[in-house]
Amino acid sequence: SASAHPDDAIRSTDDDAAASRLSAVSLGYLDDPFVSLLYRPQRIGRDSSSTHKPPLINIGTHHRTAALDAVVDSFLSASATASRPAQIVSLGAGSDTRFWRLAARQDFRLGKYVEVDFPHLTSVKAQRIAKSKVLVSALGEAPPAAAGAPMAPPAKPYKVGHGGTSLSSERYTLLPVDLRTPGALDQVAAALDPDAPTLVISECVFCYMEPEASREVLAWFGSRFENVASVVYEMCGLNDAFGAVMKRNLAARNLSLPGALPFPTAQSQAERFLDPRLGDGVFTKSGAKSLWSIRSDVVSDAEQARISKLEFLDEIEELRLVLSHYVVAWGTKGSLLEGVGL
Ligand code: SAM
Repeated sequence: SASAHPDDAIRSTDDDAAASRLSAVSLGYLDDPFVSLLYRPQRIGRDSSSTHKPPLINIGTHHRTAALDAVVDSFLSASATASRPAQIVSLGAGSDTRFWRLAARQDFRLGKYVEVDFPHLTSVKAQRIAKSKVLVSALGEAPPAAAGAPMAPPAKPYKVGHGGTSLSSERYTLLPVDLRTPGALDQVAAALDPDAPTLVISECVFCYMEPEASREVLAWFGSRFENVASVVYEMCGLNDAFGAVMKRNLAARNLSLPGALPFPTAQSQAERFLDPRLGDGVFTKSGAKSLWSIRSDVVSDAEQARISKLEFLDEIEELRLVLSHYVVAWGTKGSLLEGVGL
């Protein structure tokens, strides 16, 4: 279109993440029936095989998902003894399916699940949810019908608001929030239980923000909740030769990564949670692992054997190089959640 917004490139990054998920699902790396309900690939006159990403990307998507799933599981088991049901906030959620994957499991107690992203993204997501019986069925119960209105149609279990950019329901809330706007998170607070154990997921989001802005976000969550854990997934190490190639690829798409350089290693990603600029007693423990370590520490041998049969991968050294440039880092506050992590 004629008027490009400076954030267009950032908003389009969700396409990449979703297309990678779709590729990994269609090739058997991941089992996720909700991807195709929340994301429609844009085919630009190419054949359907163009929805497949290269093996390195599929393996990365698999390991990233396995790692985040493992952190979420460790958070849910740590929270099982709390008096309030655990809640999850996903920042820059894009077309992520995690809420529906969790809701399909019955083996734990989950309170609220809140997702935020730019309004352009949340309006599309709200529409896709509202159109899908499968997605709506996970949202929880409809509010009780008003007395004295016997002819009213059955109430829907969700409400769309803010000009179609938000959706709220018993178990799930989607909000249009620009995380760089100070005070924007107060909207998110309204959707959360201030006393519940809380996990904040930031999967490939902080790297598109200035480090000061992501620090503010971490500080906000860290000071608001007694028991809180946060997990971040990001590229790192962009100062070496591989990083130079990645940076050129991003620049070709009008993207730069302001947050990438301040956190060049897994160690520095872990330390961001303990930064004194976050304030006193915010996060008290942290850790981090690269996807390469996650491959051996988190993905079981049986799962590695299974996915190794899906596609031919000729270069393990190249895989090591790529996976070493992606990190999952976590920080926790409060004794309840101090074991959360990988
Ligand atoms: N977390 C999802 C995943 O891993 O599949 C999507 C990742 S995508 C690479 C980055 C997402 O962050 C996009 O949906 C983008 O719109 C969102 N995002 C980036 N900057 C943001 C900001 N300042 N406020 C809200 N959302 C933002």
